Amino acid sequence: MSAKPKVAFFDFTSCEGCQLTVVDALQTHLGLLDLIEIVEFREAMSEHSDDYQIAFVEGSCTRASDEERLRKIRKQAALVVALGACAHLGGVNAMKNRWPIEEVQTYVYGESGKEYYESYMARPISAVIDVDVSIPGCPIDRLEFVRVVQQLLQGCTPKLPDYSLCVECKLSENACLNKLGKPCLGPITRAGCNALCISYGDGCEGCRGFAPEANLDYMRQILEEQNLPAEIIDAKFTLFNAYALQEMGGDAPLAGNGSPNGSRRRSRKQNWPRSTFASPEEA
Ligand code: SF4
Ligand code: SF4
Ligand code: SF4
Repeated sequence: MSAKPKVAFFDFTSCEGCQLTVVDALQTHLGLLDLIEIVEFREAMSEHSDDYQIAFVEGSCTRASDEERLRKIRKQAALVVALGACAHLGGVNAMKNRWPIEEVQTYVYGESGKEYYESYMARPISAVIDVDVSIPGCPIDRLEFVRVVQQLLQGCTPKLPDYSLCVECKLSENACLNKLGKPCLGPITRAGCNALCISYGDGCEGCRGFAPEANLDYMRQILEEQNLPAEIIDAKFTLFNAYALQEMGGDAPLAGNGSPNGSRRRSRKQNWPRSTFASPEEA
């Protein structure tokens, strides 16, 4: 019998880009395959097994049936790793939480189609089960994935940086985009990607989630001083972090809300009350 830890990969609501990044990482780090035995990985193999110790979970929980599947994985796995922004934060899937689920379903599937597709508000998997480790990013960084696997195999618990992306950005000697009038969410975003987007000339969109104690109000002020319309600022804040803002309730520094087609607006003081979001039980 193999003494290698048995590893399984699972996908929930996602684009599967993080799993593809894992396949990429395994191709360039073949030595990892000497250390683990992959027993389930729909993206890369047809075999299935319910016998595993480490579960990597990609994707958000977006429907009631996901919960039972997540709990089954949690019951089996000694370690559960959230793989990527969808699993870690709710990610882009949680943008829909800004509007009533009925409205979103109609917008996406039409009146006749919505009854066939089970859906409720999108959440990170940590909203349903305990998560031991998260690998942030959209998609994940393949070298960070390799590092996490190595640390887990050594019995260590990988830690995420607890400071903002600006630290890494300055170490990379980038010119500050916000100072040049180009929006960047680096000041409120958790470090760890080595300021990847900024190094290629684009502002950070926050895919690694909020840094601890991020000053969201000041970030909003910076973006307002760049004369960005309120809806663009809201869109930036909620691209990856809609669920986190939702959990903050009325404290979220958003200016507006509206229907998926933008027809309905709310004042800043009314924004993002918990009641705006459909609860799983209501869906
Ligand atoms: S985090 Fe991004 S790349 Fe990964 S599954 Fe979600 S949408 Fe795709
Ligand atoms: S470009 Fe963005 S990440 Fe870099 S220092 Fe400026 S605000 Fe921070
Ligand atoms: S710079 Fe921002 S958006 Fe780009 S990879 Fe890093 S955290 Fe994600």
